Amino acid sequence: MSILEIRNVSTGYGEVQILWGTTLSLEEGKLTCLVGSNGAGKTTTLRTVMGLLKPWEGQVFFDGKDVSRLPAHAKAEMGLVLVPEGRQLFTDMTVEENLEMGATPRHARLHYAQNLERVYEMFPRLKERRSQKAGTMSGGEQQMLAVARGIMAEPKVLMIDELSLGLAPVLVLGLFETLRELKKLGITILLVEQNVQMALAVSDYGYVLAEGKVALQGPARELMEDEHVRAAYLGL
Ligand code: ATP
Repeated sequence: MSILEIRNVSTGYGEVQILWGTTLSLEEGKLTCLVGSNGAGKTTTLRTVMGLLKPWEGQVFFDGKDVSRLPAHAKAEMGLVLVPEGRQLFTDMTVEENLEMGATPRHARLHYAQNLERVYEMFPRLKERRSQKAGTMSGGEQQMLAVARGIMAEPKVLMIDELSLGLAPVLVLGLFETLRELKKLGITILLVEQNVQMALAVSDYGYVLAEGKVALQGPARELMEDEHVRAAYLGL
């Protein structure tokens, strides 16, 4: 069953159109990735789904409801959560205060203590550093915190923009491992990634976006074997 559906969405900034009828669908409980070159419109897609940018045309359905015109906070209440590119942490606040800020939806506030414990189990490093200011942590730790803050919102669908950007390979492996754990918890994930190889390796299904349109889609394993994908995105 599809939990999130983006149907024929077009949008852009001012006069400049970026998405040209983008259509994609997330199957519940699966990990789906959205890849493509710089400027293809991946971030724009996530921002439109979240409600930070309005679709000019087309619709977004979440959990069977048309949410195309809902603001971001209303979608977060329904269980749609975005971990934005560049993390956007509260750098002067501690790790734990940042996690608290993630627990804004009503259902997440109710289960705050349990969710905090779960997040600390997943990321022991964050537990050790719970009183440290977020801005003084390493890039990898900050990315962990950004994902953990997203989990604190108790999402049904978690969208992550550029999980691996700027991180050392060893940290990237750890974070990708976390995605598998989230999947086991039944969280549906939409992952935007520059690292196409890693993204396809962990995903169930993938979309390739080019110039604001879906150019290619399929089971991740098949995309990895696709000649065009290998030549254009995997450098093979
Ligand atoms: P990247 O990995 O480089 O972020 P992307 O696929 O996520 O690529 P987007 O961030 O969605 O791409 O950007 C698509 C296009 O929209 C780019 O040409 C970008 O310059 C433009 N764009 C993004 N944000 C804005 C904005 N706030 N105002 C005007 N143009 C923007």
